[in-house]
Amino acid sequence: MADYLQTEIQFIPGVGPKKAALLRSELNIYTVKDLLQYYPYRYVDRSKFYKISELHPSMPYVQIRGKFMTAKTIDANRKQRFVAHFSDGAGYIELIWFKSIKWVKDAINHDVEYVVYGKPSEFNGIVNIVHPEFERAEKFTIQLGNTLQAMYNTTEKMKRANLHSKAILNMQREVASRLKMVTVSESLPAYLLSKLNLITLTDTYRFIHFPENFDQLNRAQYRIKFEELFYIQLNLIHQKLAIKRVFNGHKFQKNDNVLKEFYKKYLPFTLTGAQIRVLGEIRKDLLVGQQMNRLIQGDVGSGKTLVAFMSMLMAIDNGLQTCLMAPTEILATQHFKSLVEFTDGLGITMELLTGSTRKKARERIHEGLRNGELKILVGTHALIEDEVRFKNLGLCVIDEQHRFGVAQRAKLWNKNTPPPHVLVMTATPIPRTLAMTLYGDLDVSVIDELPPGRKPVKTIHFYDSKRSRMFGFLREQIKLGRQVYIVYPLISESEKMDYKDLEDGYEAISRAFPLPEYQVSIVHGKMKSKDKERSMQLFADAKAQIMVATTVIEVGVNIPNASVMVIESAERFGLSQLHQLRGRVGRGADQSYCILMSSYKLSEEGRKRIETMVSTNDGFVISEVDLKLRGPGDLEGTKQSGIPFSLKMANLAKDTQILEFARNIAIKIIDNDPQLNKEEHHVLKRLLKNMFTNNTNWGRIS
Ligand code: ADP
Ligand code: MG
Repeated sequence: MADYLQTEIQFIPGVGPKKAALLRSELNIYTVKDLLQYYPYRYVDRSKFYKISELHPSMPYVQIRGKFMTAKTIDANRKQRFVAHFSDGAGYIELIWFKSIKWVKDAINHDVEYVVYGKPSEFNGIVNIVHPEFERAEKFTIQLGNTLQAMYNTTEKMKRANLHSKAILNMQREVASRLKMVTVSESLPAYLLSKLNLITLTDTYRFIHFPENFDQLNRAQYRIKFEELFYIQLNLIHQKLAIKRVFNGHKFQKNDNVLKEFYKKYLPFTLTGAQIRVLGEIRKDLLVGQQMNRLIQGDVGSGKTLVAFMSMLMAIDNGLQTCLMAPTEILATQHFKSLVEFTDGLGITMELLTGSTRKKARERIHEGLRNGELKILVGTHALIEDEVRFKNLGLCVIDEQHRFGVAQRAKLWNKNTPPPHVLVMTATPIPRTLAMTLYGDLDVSVIDELPPGRKPVKTIHFYDSKRSRMFGFLREQIKLGRQVYIVYPLISESEKMDYKDLEDGYEAISRAFPLPEYQVSIVHGKMKSKDKERSMQLFADAKAQIMVATTVIEVGVNIPNASVMVIESAERFGLSQLHQLRGRVGRGADQSYCILMSSYKLSEEGRKRIETMVSTNDGFVISEVDLKLRGPGDLEGTKQSGIPFSLKMANLAKDTQILEFARNIAIKIIDNDPQLNKEEHHVLKRLLKNMFTNNTNWGRIS
């Protein structure tokens, strides 16, 4: 028998082609299943009655019982309203109608008891209910759907066609009443349902739309959340295992030549505990002979580069080449310089390859890579182009991974057989739950400790009107020998205007900080890389005290003497961007400052972002707030991840425990039946395939 859930929506009694078309275009509801998965946003408890004296405008929908007292139509400003006094014997309230006045007037009978239901509001300090529903008390019975009554969101267009919440509820009732008689294919294995004490799919749909009590509602919500999170985790873990099984990796058995020398002679400081732990985790991965795919998460300034470099030395110790890829030329160049310092004295060959590397140098690099003389290559995505071929690539480090597209990362894998170990570094801290989902196919290491002696950055919010005070502060800081970044937003939709903002800003600042006392440099994405380089160098050499820039400097730039970060139009930046930018300062011994400039007109979200920045320096706290403000679908990195984040009920910010539980169950299942070939797992295999078919080549992506 065909699966009832696949029935088209227009064949439900009472729906028909017109309503069906609206459901499709407005809510994406095509089938019975879509309808059943259109979950209520709220429930109203219809078994509970309030006393009129208890009512307050802050209450959601309430129910009272009593009799209509006086009632009259009032004309005011050519607008009619019908006002009835309704009493429960101890208090009374005004019930008000602006529409259907005649109908209401005729319908009410002053001699019988009614149940009235609606949302309390307030007018001139008096509590009332506008357009309540009412029903004779003798007819009011608590039937299916009358205890906790589901409420559904509808659109304006639907409301105009009389498709209100109640209409959706009626459709749900029609469909739900059939579920017991038709074939519904279960979406989880039966043994799992009984082991985890989950209710069946049929009951889930019935209880979510027509709960008779809170227990039923909770159980339905739990199963839905579990299932949503479970399938995402199952998919990730399935992929991760596939990678491990298919790809052997280099075994890094020798670990004590260059690495040891570096550690003993050249290490410029003591490693933090977190750096030691993460290096240990990496070393362990590199010994097993399977390809490593590890993510290092660490707040800005936590010292990821050093960890990456020491891992690269492990590759070199084993006679292999290694590369480091960064998202921008500035960043690649800077990494190159850091590594030049680290490698000083070690006698390791290293080159920088970017889009602006000259042909001659490029050819030399290609040659060195092919014959194996060149050990370390640092670069931008120029590094993954086809003509870049290695003799034997052992380890690849990717910095700030979410800036690279999925396809670009996959290319790295093909640079060598066996594929190189992959170490991904990200400075965008993300909440644990999201990490488990976004990077569920990677092993995750966290550097959760900053090098000692760092002073936390002080963050201050200024409105634009305080600009001259801000300039005064900058002069003081510059007098102390510090350097300043001033960053302007660059948001692609209005790029022209943004550049104008930047140029105007640059002019104003050049006027306020004139030559020869001050030197202001400017860096933005539209400059030729030569000019960019020159400007950067001016600032890096402390010849310029101020750098005006767009967000090109957001990631990774490391100039310890720069201790003030001014962010213009801070309200236009996202939280993770603000945090990244702030991370550019606080890298030296001096007290650093981050100044957020904004206009007075702030959206609620914009204000919340600024407040969050002022109140904490903890990237993980910030990312939690970000997740709550924006939802996981909008967080940086999620869009490229290929994971369908259209979770209908589960919430990655809140349902942490269910997520961890679902992940553990998924791990057990895959451990026990890696290919999901067992009879009882066929349903999982089939649904996984359906859900994730549009997914680009997951198995081959780091
Ligand atoms: P990020 O994690 O943001 O990439 P970096 O690797 O750029 O951080 O490190 C930030 C700064 O801290 C660099 O100047 C680096 O040399 C320094 N650093 C790294 N590890 C340590 C340590 N253990 N002790 C002191 N300073 C360190
Ligand atoms: Mg970095």
